Amino acid sequence: MSTALVEVSNLNAFYGDAQVLFDVNFRLGEGETIGILGANGAGKSTFMKSLTGLVKVDTNSIRLRGEAIGGNAAGEIVRKGIAMVPEGRRLFPSMSVEENLLMGGFAKRKGKWNLQEIYKLFPILKEKRNQPSTSLSGGQQQQVAIGRALMSNPDILLCDEISLGLAPVVIKDIYDSLPSITADGMTVVVVEQDVNLAQRCSQRLYCFQEGRVALEGKSSELSRDQISEAYFGI
Ligand code: ATP
Repeated sequence: MSTALVEVSNLNAFYGDAQVLFDVNFRLGEGETIGILGANGAGKSTFMKSLTGLVKVDTNSIRLRGEAIGGNAAGEIVRKGIAMVPEGRRLFPSMSVEENLLMGGFAKRKGKWNLQEIYKLFPILKEKRNQPSTSLSGGQQQQVAIGRALMSNPDILLCDEISLGLAPVVIKDIYDSLPSITADGMTVVVVEQDVNLAQRCSQRLYCFQEGRVALEGKSSELSRDQISEAYFGI
């Protein structure tokens, strides 16, 4: 098994008094692509937010290369190498495509990703670089959100439901860009509601159910029945 880049141990997360994650254990190896599946409300986004400092959790529950980073400020976590493509894209609506991308480079780390590389990955964004981000199609906006996260040159890219609300052909385009992103060893976590997509793009899968990891295993070895049971609780 590859070296643990991120180790999550007995992670619990709360909104006020309401607990939404219960003793989550999770391991991310260097260079892996992991899929996270689960129904609405299963806790996938909260888990991603815990990893990125947007939900406060115990310091020792998340370790990056052995360093306890749980509850660190979001900006600090970006500088340590974890970037997120948030659910719903969350672009800056008053900014152009290029300005949105540049915002992602605010906490820039060393690495290959810069505007030129993003435009090579998503050529349409170069054509539209001076247009308001809101004038783009949903798929193009998703490309901006991915590009913005890459601009910080993360070691780990977290993608929260990047297929949401997009047409199948557009989803295919987005997922087809993943191999170019992982080619240089980028580690990726993809949250998905689509079992096929998650299984195809990942080496390992975690299924969340009601705030707990209900199933974990190699994507190629998990059966549909196992996944359905963990996903829907049936
Ligand atoms: P979805 O696919 O719908 O995004 P999810 O698996 O990502 O679902 P979360 O968004 O993590 O699930 O939500 C987990 C639980 O936490 C749900 O019961 C949800 O209602 C609750 N929750 C999420 N965000 C908040 C919040 N800001 N305040 C209070 N409760 C919240």
